[in-house]
Amino acid sequence: MSVEIVQRNLLNILEAVADAVTSSPASKRCRLVAVSKTKPAELIEACYSKGQRHFGENYVQELEEKSASLATKCPEIRWHFIGQVQSNKIGKICSSPGLWCVETVESEKHAKLFDKEWAKHGATVLPLRVLVQVNTSEEENKGGIQISEAPKLAEFIRKECVNLRFGGFMTIGSFDNSHTSGVNPDFEKLFGVRKQWAEQTGEDIESVELSMGMSDDFIQAIQQGSTSVRVGSKLFGAREYKNK
Ligand SMILES: *Cc1c(COP(=O)(O)O)cnc(C)c1O
Repeated sequence: MSVEIVQRNLLNILEAVADAVTSSPASKRCRLVAVSKTKPAELIEACYSKGQRHFGENYVQELEEKSASLATKCPEIRWHFIGQVQSNKIGKICSSPGLWCVETVESEKHAKLFDKEWAKHGATVLPLRVLVQVNTSEEENKGGIQISEAPKLAEFIRKECVNLRFGGFMTIGSFDNSHTSGVNPDFEKLFGVRKQWAEQTGEDIESVELSMGMSDDFIQAIQQGSTSVRVGSKLFGAREYKNK
């Protein structure tokens, strides 16, 4: 896709997000995370030059390469790691310049490792924001912690991980639920997880985020209270995978 088309897509998506926020009683604000996996740094820069700051990557190697190559040109970029976490890659994720949020923490073990690695690489900057990924659709091939365990992991991060800041909950949800019109049960479940966490801790539900909604369902997600949508193909075009 050309720079011009991507920039036009960006403005259209931002407008659609803003409209959905305005028309949804459950929504006060929503950020766009531009999911740039498999796409070149040039298209990221094209969005950055139009004011986009939050970008998401799934693969550690791509995050490493793009964050390094854009660090000088795009100094205000805020990277979100949204891929499945492997213990042996946590150091590399934490060393990526501009890392702002890890959306896919699903165990105490990974939380502890992020806490330790961030102390080495980034803790002089800020605590690292992390989200607890929840497997709302209960599919075996989906990442994320079980619904019933999610509030406990959130509390573990808040209480035990001094270099991390618990930022909220994230989910992907099932393909079928995101391609059926009407209320998405997976998004409802994530909304419920945050509510339960807030009741248990006495915190305000508005104090933490819900990251849910992708290209095909971000409007629905906003209607159900998403505060951060992750949009890839609708912005950058369909992805091509060499080995699939
Ligand atoms: C790839 C990906 C997205 C973006 O998906 P699109 O359907 O292309 O918008 C969002 N979230 C996660 C976790 C992803 O892996």
